[in-house]
Amino acid sequence: MSAMPKFTKENYFSLSKEYFLESIKDNSFLQKLFTDMDKILPVYNTIQYSCMYDDYIEISNFIGYSPNYKNNILIGFCRPAITHEIGHLVELDDISRIFKKDFGIPYAPEKFIRSSAKGFFCALAREQRVYSLEDIMNNAKSRSKFENPMWEFMAADRCPFGKFTKIEQVKDWLQSIIQQTFTNWDRDRIEFEWFRRLGMLKEKLI
Ligand SMILES: [Zn+2]
Repeated sequence: MSAMPKFTKENYFSLSKEYFLESIKDNSFLQKLFTDMDKILPVYNTIQYSCMYDDYIEISNFIGYSPNYKNNILIGFCRPAITHEIGHLVELDDISRIFKKDFGIPYAPEKFIRSSAKGFFCALAREQRVYSLEDIMNNAKSRSKFENPMWEFMAADRCPFGKFTKIEQVKDWLQSIIQQTFTNWDRDRIEFEWFRRLGMLKEKLI
């Protein structure tokens, strides 16, 4: 597929699935997660496929990984969003949250920018874990959330906080989260948790 296909209401579902499968051709791990489409199609039937970020904007407040949005699981079927969503789904410790809208994560961009230091550092830790899980899935070099200057700016704005007196300490903390994530996770564990959680969603939603 050379160019983005033309989406219409009628072909939306099948084209975005086709486009998605094409987009993961270079990643055998992702192909494995989505190989047995027939087996997990009952789950996919309740998933809104999408390749276009703009579509999410039309679905009010949708942040890209919302199960149970009007009884649908919404997940961004495109790259790089898909590895991000898988990362969020598998990293939740409290598994009951997979059934909550936005996985129970409070989110609104304008609120987030003004969020408390506690809420912000919680989110930063979570997003760093998800970033590292993405790097494992993509066989990529580990990245820090601070590669996005917005996150570093927001963190600096909230220092001092707790054990952090300066931003360098937050940088080191992120490095330790990266190390822990790479130690505790590998592709096998991601695969196991992905299918386990898809199975639970399937049971609950079908
Ligand atoms: Zn995220």
